[in-house]
Amino acid sequence: MFDQPDTAQRALDLLHRIYGHQAFRGQQAAIIEHVVEGGDALVLMPTGGGKSVCYQIPALLRDGVGIVVSPLIALMQDQVAALQQMGVAAAFLNSSLTLDELRDIERQLRRDALKLLYVAPERLLTPRFLDLLRDLKIALFAIDEAHCVSQWGHDFRPEYIQLSVLHQQFPDVPRIALTATADRETQAEIRHRLALENAEIYLASFDRPNIRYRVVEKTDGKRQLLEILQQEQAGNAGIVYCQSRKKVEEVAEWLCQRGISALPYHAGMSAELRRLNQQRFLREEAVVMVATVAFGMGIDKPDVRFVAHLDLPASIEAYYQETGRAGRDGAPAEAWLAFGLADVVMLRKRIAESAASEERKRVERRKLDALLGFCESTQCRRQALLTYFGETAGRCGNCDICLDPGETWDATVAAQKLLSAAWRTGQRFGVTHLIDVLRGETTEKVTQYGHDKLSTFGIGGDLAVADWKSLARQLVSLGYFTVDGDGFNTLAVSETARPLLKGEERLNLRKATVKLGGGKRGRRS
Ligand code: ADP
Repeated sequence: MFDQPDTAQRALDLLHRIYGHQAFRGQQAAIIEHVVEGGDALVLMPTGGGKSVCYQIPALLRDGVGIVVSPLIALMQDQVAALQQMGVAAAFLNSSLTLDELRDIERQLRRDALKLLYVAPERLLTPRFLDLLRDLKIALFAIDEAHCVSQWGHDFRPEYIQLSVLHQQFPDVPRIALTATADRETQAEIRHRLALENAEIYLASFDRPNIRYRVVEKTDGKRQLLEILQQEQAGNAGIVYCQSRKKVEEVAEWLCQRGISALPYHAGMSAELRRLNQQRFLREEAVVMVATVAFGMGIDKPDVRFVAHLDLPASIEAYYQETGRAGRDGAPAEAWLAFGLADVVMLRKRIAESAASEERKRVERRKLDALLGFCESTQCRRQALLTYFGETAGRCGNCDICLDPGETWDATVAAQKLLSAAWRTGQRFGVTHLIDVLRGETTEKVTQYGHDKLSTFGIGGDLAVADWKSLARQLVSLGYFTVDGDGFNTLAVSETARPLLKGEERLNLRKATVKLGGGKRGRRS
């Protein structure tokens, strides 16, 4: 696989000798080869996929020190401790160090005594540190958690945007960006913002076959959860995600009163208590961590048996990331999500009332819609998730839908109508306008564009606005529609829809147990 056989051998030797692993996994060897030879890379690999060796081994094989940008202090400390234990000269630079410690690391750098240096982005970007780097031989730059550069993502870090200076100031040093968030939008943003347009992309499969996905309608969330904890997950460690700090406290206490060893975790708690709870979660058995999204990034606990969402996550990416913390040991694990109308209303309201720009709100709405599409889909959950990440997959046979498909309706004709409406209006409009056309509403926009003259005008009066919206969301989630990233939520018919439009394929959808959407103009028929 390597051009220079000795590089391959040396990489494998390191994998054996330092890490104690038998063979490279997936694309690791190809990535390492590419970076060792000086190429830039963008690595999209799920959590637990083995991203670390993809930059650590090239740093060891190239001359100089590998600089690793990492957003989390705890994460870099763990990584460095592990490397040191394996005998690798590694160190980190962040705000937790004393001046003496900082000076010592600087000295080591100048003596070429380090092979890997982990650094927080804000420190890397100081003029003093950049000056220091210019005096050194640098093996590579690794940008870990690269999705932090995405302004629309849930982990946005403003300093990440400035990391493009690495390319400007050190054009000859290879850069490797790594993330476990792989939706196409984030991918494009990483490439653009980090000046990685020419980087080789390595997209690993995001399938987590040992995780069983289950989405249920929320009736009494806490009780539904308790039932699962007692009947299916007794004695297991897991994470329960809630939206708010208040709810975290309340749920943790409620579970404790019922004999579950539940601990709270959210950003409003003291650093000391958070550290303590996290340690107990990592070290003790059968601890249930009730947490906001503040908990999780960088937590490496292999035997988390379940991740439960008592509230909707922020997006499909967030859901995937959060559920991905289950079953990292490969043994069966469960991702359980309960959602109800109230969640949808609350999230919609939160977006509408937030102080964010209109553009940002549109993005948030689109992300929410995609998530809702996933929740109400009749498609295999795994298939839906993987489709979202640009992969193709068969039915998994192991999610709630595969195991119990439930009641469905034949949505073929309705889907054809909606797809045709998008097609005939030039694929330049969002769902509201398409629904107006289908339901024969003579709005100003409809008459302005002459859409009242189309054959699709008024053929959709049989469904209510909310049903059309739900259908549109499902068609987006199933990949029949693509949503344009231009901020206007333009629906375009994708290639996948062809057989459906030609009548060669039928579409069955799950009967919505939860009615979604239902804008002001909604009329139920
Ligand atoms: P990520 O950063 O993608 O979440 P890590 O780099 O932390 O993943 O690796 C996850 C786990 O997989 C670690 O325990 C690591 O030791 C192990 N691992 C990585 N590569 C290999 C390999 N080639 N063979 C066996 N185990 C591996």
